[in-house]
Amino acid sequence: MRARARRIQPSPTASRSAAVYRKARGRRRRPLGAATLAVALCGLASCVTTPFTGRQAFNLLPIEDDKQLGAQAYEETLAGVKLADSRPEAAMVHRVIDRLVPAAQAQIPVQFDWEVHLIDDPKTVNAWCMPGGKMAVYTGILPVTEDEAGLAVVMGHEIGHAIARHGTERMTQQVGVQIVLDYIAGDYAQLAGEATQLLVFLPWGRKQELEADHIGLMLMAEAGYDPRTAVPFWERMASLGGDAPPELLSTHPSDQHRIAQLQALMPEALQRYKAASPSGAAKSGSAK
Ligand SMILES: [Zn+2]
Repeated sequence: MRARARRIQPSPTASRSAAVYRKARGRRRRPLGAATLAVALCGLASCVTTPFTGRQAFNLLPIEDDKQLGAQAYEETLAGVKLADSRPEAAMVHRVIDRLVPAAQAQIPVQFDWEVHLIDDPKTVNAWCMPGGKMAVYTGILPVTEDEAGLAVVMGHEIGHAIARHGTERMTQQVGVQIVLDYIAGDYAQLAGEATQLLVFLPWGRKQELEADHIGLMLMAEAGYDPRTAVPFWERMASLGGDAPPELLSTHPSDQHRIAQLQALMPEALQRYKAASPSGAAKSGSAK
């Protein structure tokens, strides 16, 4: 699930970023052996271990930049929407986030700037968490989530993207190693505008979606929500497909692949759930 505004295509955008950047710098760059450089840097300090999955991700940007760039995009996005924070459903949104955030925060080395708003938009079946922890839930997704545990499925998934740092990982991949190195060296202003789009508004790839599913399942379990809720939720989402699938399904993995992965991970998730609820009694709203 991604923000709707200003959607752009990956390759042309990355190319344009590079072109704009080179023009701004006023000189041509010698093509790099990016893969070679990536491997070399990976051996230094740029590989980060992804929570729960253990995947080694190559990310040249410091995690503090996730917060800064995400906050910038959040401000821009919220300026164009109508908030529904006084609605009764907003209290449920905050309950879910209050339980998921400690589980997520335990997985990352710096404190994210967690924040959530409910957006009044009954036609939009969507939710997202930007790099650095800024979140939104659209009222249009609430009939599909049905209850608190269903919302925990969605927000666990979205927070999964953020703590796996998918935005800045993609920026590292798409903008190019040399440009990112220059960015780290201090040329932030040259790249900031393009970076916002690369970080926030492109659809995720299929592998990132499956990884967010994996992380989200474990987060909801550790937050005391029954992870078995995830399967019927994604089945409900899939049933909304057809000719005009909801925003959040537009780039997601096939239903079959998604459900198969969730089921394969369920024993581990249930162990985490039971550890979080040792009496076997789920917390309020977590089980049906
Ligand atoms: Zn996603």
